Amino acid sequence: LASKELKKEASLVRVNDQVCIGGQQLIVMAGPCSVESEEQIIESAIAVKAAGAQMLRGGAFKPRTSPYSFQGMEEEGLKLLAKAREVTGLPFVTEVINPETAELVAEYSDMLQIGARNAQNFALLKKVGQLKRPVLLKRGMSMTIQEFLMSAEYIMSEGNQSVILCERGIRTFETATRNTLDLSAIPVLKGKTHLPVVIDPSHGTGNHHYVAPMCYAAVAAGADGLMVEVHPDPENASSDGAQSLKPVKFAAMMEKLKLFAAAA
Ligand code: PEP
Ligand code: MN
Repeated sequence: LASKELKKEASLVRVNDQVCIGGQQLIVMAGPCSVESEEQIIESAIAVKAAGAQMLRGGAFKPRTSPYSFQGMEEEGLKLLAKAREVTGLPFVTEVINPETAELVAEYSDMLQIGARNAQNFALLKKVGQLKRPVLLKRGMSMTIQEFLMSAEYIMSEGNQSVILCERGIRTFETATRNTLDLSAIPVLKGKTHLPVVIDPSHGTGNHHYVAPMCYAAVAAGADGLMVEVHPDPENASSDGAQSLKPVKFAAMMEKLKLFAAAA
């Protein structure tokens, strides 16, 4: 179902009346790694909207490597994301970490995110395949492109064709960056599938200094969208502060991005 052999034309994934991913317009989803408070998510939403982002991101259920790290605000976080949407009009994407809470997350959100750690959680993939929400599927950290497409197939074979593929860096021997952002995945995926491709340079590099250059490169390489972590106070973020852009830096990046998007 994901293959280009069966469907030649690019798929458009519609989020709401304003936002459609996979068409001419580059879609930018931005916001904090985790929802931390009402002020934090609303301030983030207003800032990313002002800079030109079309969607808000924010985690309410966090799949943390350590069980002792902040696990997210859960349903309270979903409510705050909905409030931020009310204030700004931005639809939001948020992660779903297990089949049990998938329906709850879908009730609040505009798009479901499957994180890298769950990219081969087949029960979860099947579950979101049965829900009526677009799904942003992240590439697992050790996943081949073929395995990535098979995970998309799990969602689509349950009836949900609104799948967006997100490259967010893979594990290599390199330690200078958190992950190795595989930008070659863009043309490779474009050759194999009609599904839209989004790049997440925040998790891809793990360092806010590297985020803007990778955004420009992703657009030049043909990405349909970007997912960028932005936090009003990265030094005190509950998660992923080191890779989060301050709102002013994000706004400057968005300004420069227009030049690359126009040329692409
Ligand atoms: C996230 O988007 O905050 C996240 C946990 O991403 P990933 O699954 O790519 O690590
Ligand atoms: Mn994060």
